This record gives sequence, structure tokens and C-alpha cells, in this order.
Amino acid sequence: MSKKYYKGYKVKLDPTPEQTKQLFRFAGAARFIWNYFLSFQKEHYEIHKKYKNKYELSKLFTELRNNPKYSWLKEISFKAVRNSVYELDRAIWNCVDKRKNNKKNFPVKKTRKNKKFSFYPGEPVIWFKNNCFNIMKIGYVKLKEFNYIPIGKDIKYIDPRISFDGVDWWLSISIECETQTLDKSKTTKLGIDVGINNLITLSTGEQFQYPKKLLSRIKFIERRLRKLHQLTSKCYLKMKQNNIDIYDSNKTKNLLYLEMLIRKCYRRLTNIRKDFIHKLTTSIIQRNPEKIITETLNVREMKTKNNRFNKRLYSSLVGEILIQLEYKSIWNEIEFIKADKYFPSSKMCSICGNINYNFSPFNKYFTCGQCFYWEHRDINAAQNLYAYENTQIAG
Ligand SMILES: [Zn+2]
Repeated sequence: MSKKYYKGYKVKLDPTPEQTKQLFRFAGAARFIWNYFLSFQKEHYEIHKKYKNKYELSKLFTELRNNPKYSWLKEISFKAVRNSVYELDRAIWNCVDKRKNNKKNFPVKKTRKNKKFSFYPGEPVIWFKNNCFNIMKIGYVKLKEFNYIPIGKDIKYIDPRISFDGVDWWLSISIECETQTLDKSKTTKLGIDVGINNLITLSTGEQFQYPKKLLSRIKFIERRLRKLHQLTSKCYLKMKQNNIDIYDSNKTKNLLYLEMLIRKCYRRLTNIRKDFIHKLTTSIIQRNPEKIITETLNVREMKTKNNRFNKRLYSSLVGEILIQLEYKSIWNEIEFIKADKYFPSSKMCSICGNINYNFSPFNKYFTCGQCFYWEHRDINAAQNLYAYENTQIAG
């Protein structure tokens, strides 16, 4: 039986200077609408103790757009800005809705300060033409990579999004696909533990970490980043001493250039890591097990007071590994099981099942007080995940 799934693509855009101007205007309008209706909803809640729903909001939006004071909104694609209203609505309900167990934070104002913008480009009749993507009211914008996104009449595109990461403009889009049922002999199970020290530990005892070559490249870029940060803070200090407000318009050309270099460095770091994780998760999926069992991680909850630990936690992209394993499993029809949030994968002995509640998360080796089993903590955890279903039935 084939199942439907969505495959996401992200590709760099190559807009002309004129188009770049337009892209910034569109993103600015989307941000304006988001902030406008966010403060509106907050005020409305203060008085009536409830939020307006999507339909009431889009009615208000149409009124706003017809208001001569905001006539500039008419030059922006209607769908691009209206989508901002919808997104805000979804963000608020995700936070307010009591039925959802995975509550999100209340949406906040989008400022010009963080250099990441995005907007919804609409769903045109013709999506692509001559390696260009069709953005409503802007027209065809060239893609940097040729033949990366599959193009065809039968392909169903969804969720298009245009974003700016501080350096370049990107298009992200999803395509509806169907899984292929391949006749492969799937007999094995794999328990997978993810962590900061060992990115991936398999229940077979294999451990994977960033290769040394890559780590030295990362270190090199981080050293460069430190230097750039020092240089920019000097510029900031100068501005402060001369009582200049720190706005983009007041920044010197040199400072703006340094900030662009910093953003580029961060992007390169993420790309290096993501690239490796992609290769790693693909190689694991290619082993084609019947089932993959992982733990449920909430990176946000794992945050501690130790800033250095937090930094390592975020930069190691642990959450990304699980996300990739999950969707790649779905593509290949491998059953993906997330162990219960409270399953003590790292505190339990994988031989006798005794739980060591005092086991510290900073211990490298696990020792069992009952049967004196001794093993690397991650391997022990991976083996527990391997036996996860059995323990659920027994317990
Ligand atoms: Zn034991």
C-alpha cells in the first residue's frame, strides 16, 4: 500500500535588483500586517476577553486594505499579505487552544532587527517556467540551482514560502509524493539514541560523531566569527560614545559589511552540520530496518542554566537528526516509533531492567547497582530503546 507524504525543497533565488526591492517590500508588508493585527488582537482581548477568529480578521483586513491611508498595501499581492493574517491566527490558536498538548508560545512582534524575513508568494497557476519561480505581482524570479525542484504538470506543489536569511533570498516548497512499496527483506529493529557527545548511537553499539576534519573546519569558522564579533562590538561602542542610535540607517558601510559576514559564517556553520547529518541519517535509513525506535526529545525542555551546554545543544542540531530520521523513515516505509516521553532510556539497565534514578546525565558510563552491568551510557540507552516495545508489554 502506498502512502502520501510531502517532500520539502529549498533553493536559492537569483532576483534582479528591481525584484530584490520588491521582495523586501513584500516581506515588509507581511510583517506590518502581522504586527498590526497582533496588537489589535491583544487590545481586543483586554476588552472582550476573547480573540477574533480568522473570518472576522480577514474582513477587517479587507477594510484596512481599502482604507486610503494604507493605499500602499494595494501594490502588494493580496494573498501574500492576507496569509500573514492567517498565520497570526494559527499562531494564536496554537497557543490558546486547550486541546493541544503541544502548546506554543504566544506570537510576538516581528521586528526589522532580526534579519530574517519571509512571506507567502501565493499559489499561481503556472508555478515554474524556464527555471524561474512565479511570485504573484513580482513575476518570474530566477532560481540559482538548475533542475533541483522537480517540475511538471502532474506535480502538486504546496506550502510555498519566500524567505530572506540575512544574505540571500530562498524559496521553500513541498511536493506531494507517494511512497514506493519495495520488496525488501526487513527483519531488523534499530534503537537509536541521539546526544551531544555522540550524535547517534545505534543499539548495535556503533557510534557516530562529526568527523575530525569537519570539526576543525567548524573551529576555524568559529574563530573567525569571534574576531568579527570583536570588530563589530568596537563599531557599536564608537556609535554609543558618539550618542548615535543603533539603527541600520546609522550604521557605517563597514559595520553593515561585517554584520553580513557574520550572518554568512553562521549560515555556513549550519550548512556544514546539516550536510553531514543528512548523509548520516540517509546511511542509517539505507540499512532498511523494519522499525526504528528513538526517544522523544524536547530540546527546549533540555535547556539548562549552563550557557555553554545550551550552545552545544543547539549547535549540535540534535532535534534535526530526529526530524530527518522520522521523515526519511516515512519515505522508505520504515515504522518509526518514538518512545514515551517518560521512558527512562538512559537510567534503566538494559540487562535486568533495574532503574538507577540517581544516574547523572553527565556520567559517561552506566553502571547497574543490581547486576553490575557496565556500559557506555549512550549504548545502554540505545539498547533500551531497542527493547522498548517489550518493556511496554511487560510493564
Ligand atoms: Zn542490571
